[in-house]
Parts: sequence; C-alpha cells; structure tokens
Amino acid sequence: MYKRNNTRSIKVGSLTIGGQNDVIIQSMTNTKTKNVLETINQIKQLEKAGCQIVRVAILEMADALAIKEIKKEINIPIVGDIHFNPDFAIAAINNGIDKIRLNPGNIENEDKIKEIVNLCKERSVPIRIGINAGSLNKKYEHSEKAMIESAKDHLRILESLDFYDICLSFKSSDPLECINVYRLAAEEFPYPLHLGVTEAGGLLDSSIKSSLALGGLLLDGIGDTIRISISGDPVQEVRVAKKLLRACKLKENVPNLISCPTCGRIQYDMLPIVEEMEAYLDGINKNVSVAIMGCPVNGPQEASRADIGVAGGKDSAIMFKKGKIVKTLPQNEIVKVLKEEIEKM
Ligand code: SF4
Repeated sequence: MYKRNNTRSIKVGSLTIGGQNDVIIQSMTNTKTKNVLETINQIKQLEKAGCQIVRVAILEMADALAIKEIKKEINIPIVGDIHFNPDFAIAAINNGIDKIRLNPGNIENEDKIKEIVNLCKERSVPIRIGINAGSLNKKYEHSEKAMIESAKDHLRILESLDFYDICLSFKSSDPLECINVYRLAAEEFPYPLHLGVTEAGGLLDSSIKSSLALGGLLLDGIGDTIRISISGDPVQEVRVAKKLLRACKLKENVPNLISCPTCGRIQYDMLPIVEEMEAYLDGINKNVSVAIMGCPVNGPQEASRADIGVAGGKDSAIMFKKGKIVKTLPQNEIVKVLKEEIEKM
C-alpha cells in the first residue's frame, strides 16, 4: 500500500473520505434525475457494480425534490450537482442530499450562500468545489495555476463562513494537465481531492487517459475519491475504476485477470474463455488472480503468482494452482471448472 496524503477527513452520508480512508469510487447517472424510477434503477446498477458514491445532475426544482424518493431506494451516498441556482441547492439539502457540488463564487446572492452553508452545517452536508479547465472564470487566462487561484476564490467564501467540510476537484480533458494541477492542489490545500479526467472519451480513450493521470497521482498518494468519466453506460466507469484501484494495490476484493496475448503456439480456443471469465470475474468481489494462458511453454511459470489458471494444450488445457499443475481439462469444461474452483476460494 502506498503512503497517502493526509487530507482532512469529511463525512459523505455513511462514508468518510480523505485522510487515510480508502479511495472511493464515484460515478454519475446520465438519467434525468426527476425521472425517479429510471434514476433509481441506474443507481442500483452502479451500486451492484461497486460504485460507492453517486452524483446526479440537478437542473431544475423537480430534480432537487426527487432526491427524497431516490434516497429511500438506494444504499450509497448521493451528491447533487448544482451550478448556479441556490434554491436548487437548498431544496436538495432539505430533501436529504448527502453532498453538493457547487462553486459558491457562481452565486451572486450572499444571503443565499449563507443559507446554503448554514443548512450544510446543520445537516452535515459537505460541499465539493469543482474547478474545470474548460469553464474557468473569465478573469483568468487558462493555466494550471489559474485553476488553483480559482479554487481559492471559491474557498475564501466558504472558509469566511467557517465552513471546512470541503472537497476539491480540478478536472481537465488533458491527462498531463490533470497531473500537474492536482499536484499543485495537493501541496496547496488540506482538503480531500476528487480525481478525474473530464470529457475523456469513450471506454478505450478514457481508460487510457484516466489510468495515466489518476494512476500517476494515486501512486504519489494523491486522491481520495475517483471518477472515470466515460461517454456511455456509467457502469463501465465503475468497472474501470475498480480495475485501476486494484492495479494500484489500493483496493482488494477485486479479481485480477491475467491472460497472454496469444501467438502461433496456441492450440486451443482461448479468446472465448477470456471473454467469459472476464464477464464472470466482473461480477464477483474476491481477491483472486486468474490466469488464462495460451500454451504450457510459458504458461504456469509466467503466471505462477496467479491463484488459479489454465494453460492451453491441444484442444484442452492444464489447470494449475499457484504454479502447480492440478489436472487436464477438455476445452468445453475449462470455464465451468474454473468457475467452480473460484467459487470454492
Ligand atoms: S503463453 Fe504461449 S501462446 Fe501465450 S503468448 Fe506466451 S508463448 Fe504464446
């Protein structure tokens, strides 16, 4: 486990983020929040996939009021994303939101800001200030330092009201810019940091950009919550986040699939096995390493650290556990037996 930055701990519903607490996986629904059933269904899918905090967009009063019904059906803390309208924030808090994302500098009415902050204090609702490279205040020219200065503007407002249950994010679509600005933020601020590369693209592009930026930062001990932003089904975001945290050794109980790229030595039909096992492993919460190798030449040796694995022979595979060969399986039994053995672990 890498040493993590000791940021201030804050409560988000039943979870505590920051300090030495686990890095938490977040995602965001892409439903209209006021469509309560649809939103609940998506949050349940996200929960099942391993999402630990969910954010929803609050664009109108009906979205803020929907929080009450949504909260009754879900088990993870919910964050309301509010941009300019203080009344939506007030309604969301009054309806049980666990955290709000709001930049107080965007709200001109000082009394409303005070009202929001007082309500947040009363209900233990933290606030995330989210700085996005693409929507910096016009007084700043785009730069990493300007993103930090912009956060300070918003922070001053909250701190002047004695409010410190704050989390910060500094998102950019450029992963290298993300790394630089979060490093600056980690030096500058005591607050927990929510990491993300924004507008990162589809599954492949986002996985690469997010792993580069978030992986680098996490290994430096920076980051308390993460979101992998992917165009498409948000469940994919959670899958990638889990795999990233596991690869960084920051999350256990996530299976690890090891498989070779295959080459001319292969003599069995390996790729369907990889696909089936990947889908199966995505649905279980176990700290297990499973190797699917193309041939016995390098198979068990190269994958000797796997808990269990197979290495292909002619229309068959040898099964091994911790590098030791256990038995030979015909092609059509490989997936079934692997699943049975993993169930027993
Ligand atoms: S394990 Fe065998 S089939 Fe797979 S890449 Fe290595 S040599 Fe090729």
